[in-house]
Amino acid sequence: MLDISKELTPDAIAPRLAAIVGAQNVAADPATLTLHSADIWRRAESPILAVAPGSTEELSRVIALVHAAGLAIAPRGAGASYTAAYLPARAGTVSLDMTRMDQVLAVDPGAMTVTVQGGCTWAALNAALKPHGLRTPFWGPMSGLVSTIGGGLSQLNAMFGAARYGTSSESVVGLAIVLADGQVLRTGAGLPGAAPFYRHYGPDLAGLFCGDGGVFGIKAEVTLRLMRIPSHEDYVSFAFKTGRDLLLAMAELSRAGVASEMCAFDPGLAEVRMKRASLAEDFSTLRRVVAKESTLLKGLQQAAKIAIAGRDIMAPDDYSLHLIAEGRAAAAVAADLAEARRIAAGCHGREIENSIARLIRVTPFPPLNSILGPSGERWAPVHGIASLTAAPAVFEEVEAVFAAMKPELTAAGVSAGYLYTSLSTNALIIEPVFYWPEERYAIHEKLMETQHLARLPVQPANPAATATVTEARRRVIEVFARHGCGFFQIGRTYPYRESRDPASLALLDGIKALLDPAQNFNPGVLGISGAGTD
Ligand SMILES: Cc1cc2nc3c(=O)[nH]c(=O)nc-3n(C[C@H](O)[C@H](O)[C@H](O)COP(=O)(O)OP(=O)(O)OC[C@H]3O[C@@H](n4cnc5c(N)ncnc54)[C@H](O)[C@@H]3O)c2cc1C
Repeated sequence: MLDISKELTPDAIAPRLAAIVGAQNVAADPATLTLHSADIWRRAESPILAVAPGSTEELSRVIALVHAAGLAIAPRGAGASYTAAYLPARAGTVSLDMTRMDQVLAVDPGAMTVTVQGGCTWAALNAALKPHGLRTPFWGPMSGLVSTIGGGLSQLNAMFGAARYGTSSESVVGLAIVLADGQVLRTGAGLPGAAPFYRHYGPDLAGLFCGDGGVFGIKAEVTLRLMRIPSHEDYVSFAFKTGRDLLLAMAELSRAGVASEMCAFDPGLAEVRMKRASLAEDFSTLRRVVAKESTLLKGLQQAAKIAIAGRDIMAPDDYSLHLIAEGRAAAAVAADLAEARRIAAGCHGREIENSIARLIRVTPFPPLNSILGPSGERWAPVHGIASLTAAPAVFEEVEAVFAAMKPELTAAGVSAGYLYTSLSTNALIIEPVFYWPEERYAIHEKLMETQHLARLPVQPANPAATATVTEARRRVIEVFARHGCGFFQIGRTYPYRESRDPASLALLDGIKALLDPAQNFNPGVLGISGAGTD
């Protein structure tokens, strides 16, 4: 423990932090504080300042100092989440900006591990691994251009590689965690001072910090397992007439383990996506399609197929499913796609042009321009992780919520669609997405491309519409919880404590009391040390 004077006040702390990280990395200007006081979903308290350490050593000294001052700490990666998960919950909070800790520290193709700083983005990780022909099994969320590996492990992620390998934390070999008193806790098997090479050595301590929302400690360094990038991939897309058939197909495709990732859209979401994509985006995407193929001729053929199919590859009332298979041999990938076709046909699926599946892989980490709708309206997803057997019934109950609320939703100008993805061989994610007229925040301006933002109308404040969305979100989450769904990105939005048995709660509270006795890390997240709902 550092010996720090009890008279350390919030005002006195800024120069002390500046002495650790440099004055340019301690911000108290209104623009930064405003940015850090809202996520994509809602506004909260302003932090008193934002501090950005650049190394594990600086992070450790920062945390010890802020804790000694008795201030709350809100860890923040790129801020690309929407469950009030990094927002200050009480006055006198310091926002911990992890984006300076963005380095890939070591790639070890011999040991098949990579070690990154907690603020490293998924895009930077993949760029560093590509020249080695390597990647991590789960290799990023769609927000990976900016979103961080520390944030992704704290909230857990779905998407690239998830249909085969599961969520982000399945790739973890070891973590270096900075605790409240500044101590560094390192997990995994390996020599002291060296990166771990294997995760499991006694109880799984890394697991404690995966999905913890930053309430137990700060992810300073992360070591992940590597695999060779499969040399073959191929794509297939299907259209279904009902959500039930789509989910039955996704469940069986999951059991069969044929996809590395699959995602599906309902007619509502497909409509928004088609309105949004601009011609300029189409051209730059087609250029990337050409570049991805092994020869120019093949690339031009693929690009031509996509351009000719255009945006009319499915009927307006179709549910579309896009599946990517990968493997070491072309024959194995072809066999997986053949099995996918057999399964989809058995669920009344009709094969359609595979442009969207192909485009998903061509630009896995697009700019985050989808966080406002095509008319500048606000966007916020909500999700539940359902068992393969429960998914169709869960979906139908969520649909019933929307049907019951239709008059209010329509009156408030709220529209909704669904995204569906899969997790390994045993879970599906059902993700309703809301669009509604409401003003944008500083985070939208920060995360979106300037030229895209400039084309969108500016919506005025509309608290009544937001109240309607809040109520719809609450009712949808209630359906998910009633069916025993799990949740990623729990933050202050999803119930967690409510679903745990008394023995688990006692263990969680005991761990919190041991690791963060003053309850300063992210109070309220996971419902620990404060109110859990937003
Ligand atoms: C356009 C868009 C697409 C998206 N696509 C996907 C997707 O495909 N799959 C998916 O799973 N999610 C997706 N998301 C959701 C979101 O981007 C992810 O949850 C992402 O992991 C957030 O990372 P971040 O770095 O922005 O974390 P933040 O939002 O900054 O923080 C997330 C949580 O982690 C904590 N935290 C952050 N860094 C640390 C650290 N180093 N140590 C301890 N705690 C920390 C924060 O306190 C907070 O509780 C998407 C979001 C957007 C906007």
